[in-house]
Amino acid sequence: MILLDGKLASQAIKNELKEKVLLLKKEGKKAPHLAAILVGNDGASDTYVTSKVKNCEEVGFTSSLYHLPDTVSEHDLVHLIKKLNVNTDIDGILVQLPLPPHIAEEKITSLVDPAKDVDGFNPVNVGNMVLRKSHGSSSFIPATPYGILLLLQHYNIETKGKHAVVIGRSNIVGKPLSILLSRNDDPGNCTVTLCHSHTKNLKEICLQADIIVAALGKPAFLKADMIKQDAVIIDVGINRITDLSKKNGYVLKGDVDFEKVAEKCSYITPVPGGVGPMTIAALLMNTFKASQALQTAVTKK
Ligand code: NAD
Repeated sequence: MILLDGKLASQAIKNELKEKVLLLKKEGKKAPHLAAILVGNDGASDTYVTSKVKNCEEVGFTSSLYHLPDTVSEHDLVHLIKKLNVNTDIDGILVQLPLPPHIAEEKITSLVDPAKDVDGFNPVNVGNMVLRKSHGSSSFIPATPYGILLLLQHYNIETKGKHAVVIGRSNIVGKPLSILLSRNDDPGNCTVTLCHSHTKNLKEICLQADIIVAALGKPAFLKADMIKQDAVIIDVGINRITDLSKKNGYVLKGDVDFEKVAEKCSYITPVPGGVGPMTIAALLMNTFKASQALQTAVTKK
């Protein structure tokens, strides 16, 4: 079994970005600038946003964090996004999900200027992802699926003609990934089965898979008897399991029964240290791309 080390692969991407930012600065150009919006005090969301901001600093990007109370009105959040959309110093905007129930998530994600939508949740970018071939084009792929593609690429994992089973159909992971893996692209060209909570015979389906992506949010759900020998296993799940022996009171577990599955598969991502760091690397890649396109557009004006 080979570990798909997201820390290692993401560090390689971050090192490249760092070099590119240094070059920009040398040429007197501005560094990419990411604006992150966090609403409320959810511990996990807080950790993710803090890490995204820290990683921006690491590669030399500028970042601005807008931490709003969970009582913020939809109107005020809309106003902030509209302000950031027209601010030429801001290249990328991310709104950390989930949002409190009184705010319509879809309305908010649709409002982010597609050219700054580095999370790739605006319907324009979702449409482009479905229609276009390459992730090198001018729109944005959601960070977690994009990070998974980058990880597959980093480890030269063949996807063409493989049967990929994706468990979970969320708009941010499972659904976009199922589209990306089935596109005529590399990575891509898989035959994809998208499974969800109403799927029957999940075990039988998984047993036919060359690649399994577990993105359902259930700790240790995917067991060794559900995979075929030498399958490739991508574990997206991040589940906080109470562990009072730890300083923060929890440990992170994936959706895969790691120890047992690792004995049978060919490749596997650890949790933590697998898909998580790749998600951040992909977000940084998107932000760099947004910055390049926007700054070119500003220079042309
Ligand atoms: P979600 O929580 O919105 O939805 C879960 C999906 O799993 C649904 O589509 C549901 O139909 C499916 N599902 C639930 N139970 C099932 C079952 N028994 N069999 C088959 N399918 C089942 O999904 P999400 O937001 O994509 O999150 C999934 C997991 O991934 C969570 O643990 C989340 O924390 C994690 N996550 C990690 C990253 C990362 O960067 N590593 C990013 C996003 C989400």
